[in-house]
Amino acid sequence: MRRKLAAGNWKMNGTSDALAQLTALRNAHPTPGVDILICPPATLISAAVVTAADHPLAIGGQDCHMAQIGAHTGDISAAMLKDAGASYVLTGHSERRTDHNETDEMIRNKTKAAHAEGLIAVVCIGETLKEREAANTLDIIAGQLAGSLPDVLTAENTVIAYEPVWAIGTGKVPTTNQIGEVHDYIRTKLEQRYGAGVGKSIRILYGGSVKGSNADEIFAVSNVDGALVGGASLKAEDFSPIITALENA
Ligand code: PEP
Repeated sequence: MRRKLAAGNWKMNGTSDALAQLTALRNAHPTPGVDILICPPATLISAAVVTAADHPLAIGGQDCHMAQIGAHTGDISAAMLKDAGASYVLTGHSERRTDHNETDEMIRNKTKAAHAEGLIAVVCIGETLKEREAANTLDIIAGQLAGSLPDVLTAENTVIAYEPVWAIGTGKVPTTNQIGEVHDYIRTKLEQRYGAGVGKSIRILYGGSVKGSNADEIFAVSNVDGALVGGASLKAEDFSPIITALENA
């Protein structure tokens, strides 16, 4: 009932020659059985949309400002992403929370701004290693969900990405039991807040050092509806096996 999503976050990687990876990806998956999203750097969005034309591959932004327009040098609004052809945007990635001191309130407002423009927001949450070691993971997740999600949303305009901060770019991956515990918890929280219909339909991605070699076991975990992938999304040859694993899950 939930359509699976393989999402790639290129972060601050890629100039125009990286578009060849999108071409390779669409050629490798001419009729994908899952949704595919690539979030390239903002400078590549328009060209990526052209490269992905006539293919279900979706293009997204990595962040948006909470305001529609104004004096915010260097920022990008949701309307600008939409205008460039993006259909998704990440909000609250841990690197934004850390590098730019983004708070749950800011992320909630960015998510609302994305929704107002018709973009699908991929709202990222996750605990630090210190928080996990202090057995605070579920409390942190509850707080981030409460603070980062707007009161009004739909399963069509919102995706949750659970990304333990300590697993991002480190090669460390939680056990499947740990992933399952958090995903089940997120599902319960979504159902409590938004009702069973919406709560059961929102997709929940896992993110943090997903690779072709660990994708099968991660995708077998309950309430894992796909992945948000950083490093392994940069090259089509690395991302493609993850897409295939999700198609087969
Ligand atoms: C990410 O950037 O969201 C991420 C999960 O990165 P990686 O796959 O490299 O750990």
